[in-house]
Amino acid sequence: MDSVLIRYHEIALKKGNRAYFTEMLKRNIVAAVKDLGAKEIRSLPARLVLTFRDKIDPETLTERISSVFGIANFSLVQRTGRDIEQLRSQILAGLNGARFASFRIDTQRGDKSFPLNSPEINRQLGAAVQQKTGARVDLDNPEFTVYVEILPKDTYFGFNKLPGAGGLPVGTSGRLLSLISGGFDSPVAAYRMMQRGCRVIFVHFHSAPYQDKTSQDKVRDLVKRLTRHQFQSRLYMVPFGEIQRQIVAAVARPLRVVLYRRMMLRIGERIARREKARALVTGESLGQVASQTLENMTVIQQAVAMPILRPLVGMDKQEIVDQARRIGTFETSSIPDQDCCQLFVPKHPATKARFDEVEADEAKLNIEELVRYGLENASTEEFVFPAPMVDGENDKAVT
Ligand code: ATP
Ligand code: MG
Repeated sequence: MDSVLIRYHEIALKKGNRAYFTEMLKRNIVAAVKDLGAKEIRSLPARLVLTFRDKIDPETLTERISSVFGIANFSLVQRTGRDIEQLRSQILAGLNGARFASFRIDTQRGDKSFPLNSPEINRQLGAAVQQKTGARVDLDNPEFTVYVEILPKDTYFGFNKLPGAGGLPVGTSGRLLSLISGGFDSPVAAYRMMQRGCRVIFVHFHSAPYQDKTSQDKVRDLVKRLTRHQFQSRLYMVPFGEIQRQIVAAVARPLRVVLYRRMMLRIGERIARREKARALVTGESLGQVASQTLENMTVIQQAVAMPILRPLVGMDKQEIVDQARRIGTFETSSIPDQDCCQLFVPKHPATKARFDEVEADEAKLNIEELVRYGLENASTEEFVFPAPMVDGENDKAVT
């Protein structure tokens, strides 16, 4: 197959936004296949046709297209000549022994100058497929569908639909800063916001040299994985061990985790402003651990003015883990590591932190200086998908 027919849910879009939405979707699709030699991407009502210079391995193509948000479903299709004879023989050859009990032909005739209308095309091609396979025609619930798309220059055919990633194209909903640990939750949270059309920047707080570097490597791996959906990511690595050491020196055990979290949010908020991100994202889920009670979440939130989005707040651990498996982050998140928040914390942290107590403890610290320490010592790492090619081949313009 040398082309893809990509469908999106047009009705779900507000009229005024449609052009912007399709423009972003096209741009993201082109980015997703940058290294595969794309030739052209064309807009049709509620769908796009992406063509390549050569045939592409169907598995690679399916993998790339199915990670682009904003796509309802798609079909791998083959470009063919404009006459019905050629179309018929290529479809029959393309069936390649496929077995099914029922089928239908679904023709979209975008070019009204084509000599046959859609019902006639369906009839002629249907008769040929029926004769070759012995399968019956079923218009309502077919086991197999042959899609035919007739455009002014080219004609395409393909078999069946594959599910898209759904959601909205990355970039249509603005920018967010995701607080990412090496755990199960935060990568899933970031994924869910990308699926809602957000571009996500990442920040990870690590406790090197007090702890090993496993969490940093896990986070790199997770960001690399998630970059398949937004093609470019920036990760801030913030050294947090020294900040924790100072909190530990000044504050009694029960409130330490709450203070750690408030520091993370403060530093996160400043990075977010620098990156023009409008909100922070965490993987918190209500009641999952001691620090995630309503009381604690409230006190933690009060450290910053910027909204905190918690896409997993109402999800069960099992649902989160199931999604982690589906999006390919489960394996990496399962690797044992030392989370920075386990450093110097009690077995029984406070579950009902009170704002006045937290404030009294924070008064013993120079908060602004600690925030500045985190920002000044942060480093950034850039991630790109697909991996850039040496000779600049993947920068060739797509018309
Ligand atoms: P996760 O599975 O994402 O680690 P968790 O269930 O372990 O979450 P907590 O440890 O309470 O929950 O962390 C709550 C949220 O705070 C995380 O989902 C993440 O967004 C953020 N967070 C925690 N630790 C870090 C860290 N080291 N760096 C960046 N963000 C963090
Ligand atoms: Mg964690």
